[in-house]
Amino acid sequence: MSRFLKQQYLSLEAYTPGEQPRDKQYIKLNTNESPFPPSEAVINAVNADEVRDLRLYSDPECKALKTALAELYEVSPNNIYLSNGSDDILNFSFMAFSENGVVFPEISYGFYKVFAELHNVSYTAIPLKDDFSIDPADYNVNGRLIVIANPNAPTGLCLDLGQIEGILKANPDSVVLIDEAYIDFGGESCFKLTKQYKNLLVVGTFSKSRSMAGARLGFAIADEELISDLERIKYSTNPYNINRLTLAAGTAAVKDNGYYMDNCRKIIQNREYTTLELEKLGFFVLPSKANFVFAKSEKIGGEELYLKLKANGILVRHFKTEKIKDFNRITIGSKEEMEKFIEVTTKILEGTL
Ligand SMILES: *Cc1c(COP(=O)(O)O)cnc(C)c1O
Repeated sequence: MSRFLKQQYLSLEAYTPGEQPRDKQYIKLNTNESPFPPSEAVINAVNADEVRDLRLYSDPECKALKTALAELYEVSPNNIYLSNGSDDILNFSFMAFSENGVVFPEISYGFYKVFAELHNVSYTAIPLKDDFSIDPADYNVNGRLIVIANPNAPTGLCLDLGQIEGILKANPDSVVLIDEAYIDFGGESCFKLTKQYKNLLVVGTFSKSRSMAGARLGFAIADEELISDLERIKYSTNPYNINRLTLAAGTAAVKDNGYYMDNCRKIIQNREYTTLELEKLGFFVLPSKANFVFAKSEKIGGEELYLKLKANGILVRHFKTEKIKDFNRITIGSKEEMEKFIEVTTKILEGTL
């Protein structure tokens, strides 16, 4: 740290991304990426002509991609905001809508706390119930920004539409941000409620179900007025926030939605396979609606399993937080990857690895 850093950032605890080691080839089940490549149409959209055009700025209004997404979600382009990864939308929302503070689940996406601290916003981390679910009744906090990942991470548990609507009704003076990074893996999106609730901000990403984590593309769906607030901050920081290649790839991906929804169905099948096999091995597995499962075993500690899997070429995500330190979060990959994961885990438990 230099002596020039402003006082307010001295104690900032930054977010720790999942490891991306380069020392050898791992089976990567640690950052919830897709095992499937982008569709052919996406690969063809990022072509030599697009590369030549990199000398020009990208479209700050992102018209083509907004139009495609608006068609898919049956909203107006004015109801859509696009960003360089959905983390940017979370960041902007913590900046924009947290006048009275913010609440989020205690066990959830680690970035929420980082953004609260970055922007010096007072926050309350609301404990989960004993079964790791979110109790909507704990979110009567009218006026404060409410941020909920649905499905939640790293638990994979999902609220239904009625529960989300209950939170919206109880908090008409709060912005309710529902982070739907994992919604395509079996939950029901609440984007339709944006027509009725002007305080609902639904955030999505192309990183998980649309196989574009490396392209950095996120989107929000909300009433025009909330969208215009986000646009105001974007035009005050980085008007060309999405690069040309990502815009081209994203537009092609939306038009190829069927391919991605098929992939989600395959992930769901592999998730059911993995859950069943882990249960056969004696694991406790939370019922997941995401592209990962959260599991623990009485026979081996969370960190020990993580380290042994890593030594055998498989990466999963372990969190040292006291309440979840017995668990690992295991991304659902291809069938072959999950078979290998189960095989190696079996041997670790037998003591032969
Ligand atoms: C992965 C993830 C995101 C962010 O993804 P981007 O890659 O920045 O679009 C946001 N929220 C949750 C809960 C996530 O797991």
